[in-house]
Amino acid sequence: MTAIDFHKLAKIELHCHLDGSLSLSTIRHLAELAQIDLPEDDEELKQHVTAPVTCESLLEYLESFDYIRPLLQTNEALTIAAYDVAKQAALENVIYIEVRFAPELSMDKGLTVTETIDAVCQGLRQAQEEFGIIAKALVCGMRQSDQSLTARILDEANQVRDSDFVGFDFAGDELNYGPAAIKPLIEQVKSYNRPMTFHAGECGCSAFLAESIAMGIKRNGHATILAQEPELLDEFVKNGVTGELCLTSNLQTKAAVTVNDFPYLKMKAAGANITINTDNRTVSDTNLTKEYELYHKYFDSTVQDFYAHNKTAIEASFASDEEKEELLARLAKAYS
Ligand SMILES: [Zn+2]
Repeated sequence: MTAIDFHKLAKIELHCHLDGSLSLSTIRHLAELAQIDLPEDDEELKQHVTAPVTCESLLEYLESFDYIRPLLQTNEALTIAAYDVAKQAALENVIYIEVRFAPELSMDKGLTVTETIDAVCQGLRQAQEEFGIIAKALVCGMRQSDQSLTARILDEANQVRDSDFVGFDFAGDELNYGPAAIKPLIEQVKSYNRPMTFHAGECGCSAFLAESIAMGIKRNGHATILAQEPELLDEFVKNGVTGELCLTSNLQTKAAVTVNDFPYLKMKAAGANITINTDNRTVSDTNLTKEYELYHKYFDSTVQDFYAHNKTAIEASFASDEEKEELLARLAKAYS
């Protein structure tokens, strides 16, 4: 059997956080612009922006993001950051990516919600023009934030009509702010009639994923708990929900203590919609090529499996119908 060239395989990514995915060189560039001193040694810098291989919890994992926040407070910085993440993806043959970010985390120095979205979309478009990747932005509400602030941010985001800003998500502290705790915000986003995805099932709480499914949310970040909950997996499949799986990230946060606690094989056996994602390229020290290698190593995933997961990802993506058609054709050609 010849070895699979995972780098060369065409890939789709639906779950990638902007602030968790900046390359070290871009972090240095942004720090220079923000006049913030960083450790000169790359290894030392990496320790600040990469979570430990195993964290105490999701909350410890999220600490790595605090280091990046001051770097992303201007239009210019957001454009550079978005370009950087889409470029990294394009260079490993990702042909479509959705990059998500929380405007709230870039408003410390007075940027408006609209400005943050415009700046991110501009960076994505630059990468699109240069590398041919199709790159879209999603806006995240932060679950642990003041809800009236989040409501205002989401409403302002909803005013923005840009073909490269395609949907919404809720990120942050799932454990203490499950779907029921932020239900008014979820209802608010649903009333926009725009696509949305949702982080659920990452913190060991099956009820949260069950609530998310019951609320009619069709895309789900992580869904790790499905490994332990066969009945919930049935619901997940019955409702046609698509899982945005993030293996390395789950092992770090102990959402999956071992690979056996990761739901991939059970989801696959149940015919669930599966997509493979990095979550955070830098915080998790990964990329999609490395993730594919791990699926091959742990779960014997084949090229045909990757093709199927990528088709699923295109179908569940928030791209336009024309873009989906184009992507499916590109994918078919790449895997033929
Ligand atoms: Zn995530």
